[in-house]
Amino acid sequence: MTDKIIIFDTTLRDGEQSPGASMNVEEKIRVAKELKKLGVDVIEAGFAFSSAGDFEAVRRVAHEVSDEKGPTVCSLARAKEEDVKAAWEALRGAPRPRIHTFISTSEIHLKHQFKMTRAEALRRAVEMVRLSRSFVSDVEFSAMDASRTDLKYLYEVLEAVIEAGATTVNIPDTVGYALPHQFGEIIKGIKANVKNIDKAVISVHCHNDLGLAVANSLSAVINGARQVECTINGIGERAGNASLEEIVMILKTRKDALGLKTSIVTEYLYPASRLVSAITGMVVQPNKAIVGDNAFAHESGIHQDGLLKEKTTYEIMSPESVGISRSTLVMGKHSGRHAFRERLKEMGYELGDADLNKAFERFKSLADSKKEVFDEDIEAIVQEEVLRIEVPDRFRLLKLDVVSGTEKPPAAVLEMEVDGKKMTDTGKGDGPVDAVYKTIARMTGTRSKLLRYSVNAITGGTDAQGEVTVRLEEAGHIVLGQGAHTDIIVASARAYINALNRLEHKKKEKKERVV
Ligand code: MN
Repeated sequence: MTDKIIIFDTTLRDGEQSPGASMNVEEKIRVAKELKKLGVDVIEAGFAFSSAGDFEAVRRVAHEVSDEKGPTVCSLARAKEEDVKAAWEALRGAPRPRIHTFISTSEIHLKHQFKMTRAEALRRAVEMVRLSRSFVSDVEFSAMDASRTDLKYLYEVLEAVIEAGATTVNIPDTVGYALPHQFGEIIKGIKANVKNIDKAVISVHCHNDLGLAVANSLSAVINGARQVECTINGIGERAGNASLEEIVMILKTRKDALGLKTSIVTEYLYPASRLVSAITGMVVQPNKAIVGDNAFAHESGIHQDGLLKEKTTYEIMSPESVGISRSTLVMGKHSGRHAFRERLKEMGYELGDADLNKAFERFKSLADSKKEVFDEDIEAIVQEEVLRIEVPDRFRLLKLDVVSGTEKPPAAVLEMEVDGKKMTDTGKGDGPVDAVYKTIARMTGTRSKLLRYSVNAITGGTDAQGEVTVRLEEAGHIVLGQGAHTDIIVASARAYINALNRLEHKKKEKKERVV
């Protein structure tokens, strides 16, 4: 058996199913390009049938990001003709297309959700694999809720779909219920009992509801699985998926014990993590393995002493190996464009000239109001100016003036552009943010509900930039907006308007269904 583990990244599909983490097509392209640099073998770019936006994302990632050398780009499709056909329409003509079709096999799902007999599910699975194979030679089949499926039936389904042409069979722990030793046994059982299993790659797709997604994936790999489905930062439905960076660094760091490898360029792990977190607004917890802020921070004096003498005393892998640089170069208003570009490069951002100029301008104006500009500040700038790609804005903030304090009731005066027309309005509120938001809501006529408002100081000091994140909801669409500024009222207004523009885009994107 090969010692290479295929890394199947589903950040753009399952990851995007994290509440509030939705990405627009341009953002998906950016992430996909980063995943290609990272060296993932397969990118699941979306679920083509589900919406016009997903269809477009699959189509563009498959045609624009992938080439003959890879990565393979795949679309999810339920075991339904219209789904498989939509997947094929999106992938048609791409250099390395894969159709990934799935159906539930567990009694719980078949009986309560799909009202389908086992025989019917099996027939549907075989038919749809066959249909997929009539379009592409690379077909993956998933037995949804496999970890709670009767094993004899699971073997039967797998044998039939491989016979029908599936080249990868995926065993999902859809609800995150499996335990590592049991899940490993399931994989071992499949190898021993599915007669034609040598004709397909065994894949796993584990969820993290009990915090076991990575452990379960690892156990599967030890028992013969050769593809792992995972996401950057472990994002995904509910508690998320197995985290790509953890899987990859386990295989690399413990190659001595496992003897397995991946084709991931690990130095791009951290940049990929930052990119996904910037685009989705899903912040990585500081103690997260591999990519958390504290993952390589040593606090204890004894540990620091050891590290100074010899790094391997307390470091099982180096921060550089995952793309975290140790540079402590302080940036300020005397830093030039060249130094700025170099710093960005060290942080994993390689920007084109136009983007660099935009970011550099913001950096200069920030450096004027703030003595030291930290990496986090630069990141916030890149995030706001470059990474969050916007559709043509319906709403733009032109001017903002607020009154607040202990004497006068908080009030705001705003000048905005709405659909190209300049408008001015004033409003009062409980506080300055409330006054600003009420005024913006009136000027834009939005019917959205504000679910969450949070403000974070990006660095220490009272001259720090405030970063505001808001979450809005309208008719089932949830979007996130962000804004950063040394004045938190301005940051708040920017975040709100950013979210409103994203909501407009989302409503448009989801309107028409494909096929
Ligand atoms: Mn999933």
